[in-house]
Amino acid sequence: MSERHPIRVMDKNTTSRQRALVVGLGISGTASALRLHRAGWDVVVLEKAPERRRGGYFIALFGTGLAAAERLGIADAVPNRFAPEGVSFDVDRTGRRRRGVGYADVFGGSRMVMRGDIEDAVFTALPDGVEIRYSTVPIALDQYLDGVGVEIRDLTTETTTVERFDLVVGADGLRSTVRRLAFEPEQSPIRRLNYMIAVYSLPEPVPGYRLQDGLLMAEAGRSVWVFSFADRPPSVLFSYRTDDVDAEFTRPAIDSLRAAYGPEPTGSTLGWLLDQFEKAPDHLFDSAEQVHLDHWHRGRVVLVGDAAWCLTVYSGMGASTGLAGADLLGTMLERHPHDVPRALQDWEDHLRPFIDHHLGSGVSMRGFFTPGNRAELLLRSMMIRLARLPIAGRLLAKMMTNRARMKSLDIAAAAA
Ligand SMILES: Cc1cc2nc3c(=O)[nH]c(=O)nc-3n(C[C@H](O)[C@H](O)[C@H](O)COP(=O)(O)OP(=O)(O)OC[C@H]3O[C@@H](n4cnc5c(N)ncnc54)[C@H](O)[C@@H]3O)c2cc1C
Repeated sequence: MSERHPIRVMDKNTTSRQRALVVGLGISGTASALRLHRAGWDVVVLEKAPERRRGGYFIALFGTGLAAAERLGIADAVPNRFAPEGVSFDVDRTGRRRRGVGYADVFGGSRMVMRGDIEDAVFTALPDGVEIRYSTVPIALDQYLDGVGVEIRDLTTETTTVERFDLVVGADGLRSTVRRLAFEPEQSPIRRLNYMIAVYSLPEPVPGYRLQDGLLMAEAGRSVWVFSFADRPPSVLFSYRTDDVDAEFTRPAIDSLRAAYGPEPTGSTLGWLLDQFEKAPDHLFDSAEQVHLDHWHRGRVVLVGDAAWCLTVYSGMGASTGLAGADLLGTMLERHPHDVPRALQDWEDHLRPFIDHHLGSGVSMRGFFTPGNRAELLLRSMMIRLARLPIAGRLLAKMMTNRARMKSLDIAAAAA
């Protein structure tokens, strides 16, 4: 335990119910809290931020996530903002447009939402018994045979307490503190894909297009996607290749974007999208990074969601697997209520092949989002043209059906 801060020891385990600490109030953490409470656990959630975040960005929730949402009892509370009458356009800098292939054309059957829609649905379903502490983080973990001592820091009062838990769930995202404290891998588990992403919401439709229309401008090494919704303005994704990720963070995000999408004249649509990014009240600007770990649990500490297996935007499965991972965790803890290590091992055994598949698809589907070079750009447009021909189209559709099947697997049902 650390000696850096004055420590108050508080062991709140006065009931016979087992006690879980969930770190992170994103999709994975909130779903874990909900599912563990339902499995009979007392749950405390720590969230670093001072309050719950809202909004987010475009998310396609696939069958895997929808099946988990159904079992968690939140599926009806997750809206579908898909715009069936929307058209996807391929556009270029000169203003040329032609009918293209949108995300929903390739992967049908998903529900189109904002990240906040899923977070709201799970959060609203949390029972009062789940204790949430904002502006609070774990700063040290100490594992014993039958529990975990956690040093917890309240960032507002600047006080530190130590509490004992029977299980710690690290759902604190790509740059997880729980992972660092409990796993301390010799090598960083983070794999950079050498792509940057920038995401924000538009205040209005793109000039010259309807609210429900989607846009894609794909060039070698860079792309811009406008993901449309039926009932709210679109979400925009810039995605570009870089050889020096660190350098992209050394200047304001808009400067990095303008450099990446220059020096050619932007034309009106790209120029407008960049201007809107600069004016947006908030945005996400980050590098696309995956997490590869040999184990997602150690003793009584388990990682779920991006903390364990960040798949990146390119796989389109981070939210779905966060929900499914949380749901399966509850199933396994119900199956082995007095043997946490066994439950965690079974949980990982069932989940691992599925997640490995999607880590792979996160890399291979990157070319669909953002062709890395001219050859990939050519291949992409060839595939789209082929998709319009009868026989080749059927073959491609079959290939995509296989991918879609892996996005729809009901993980907890498969483990039954
Ligand atoms: C642009 C973009 C598009 C995407 N599109 C899709 C899609 O179409 N389909 C899909 O399924 N997925 C998609 N994803 C992925 C998906 O959004 C993520 O995988 C998912 O939201 C991860 O949820 P999480 O709860 O695991 O982690 P996060 O959302 O990262 O949540 C982590 C939480 O932990 C908190 N936290 C961090 N550190 C600490 C700490 N030390 N102590 C306490 N709390 C802490 C954070 O504040 C946060 O609330 C997309 C991602 C991006 C970036």
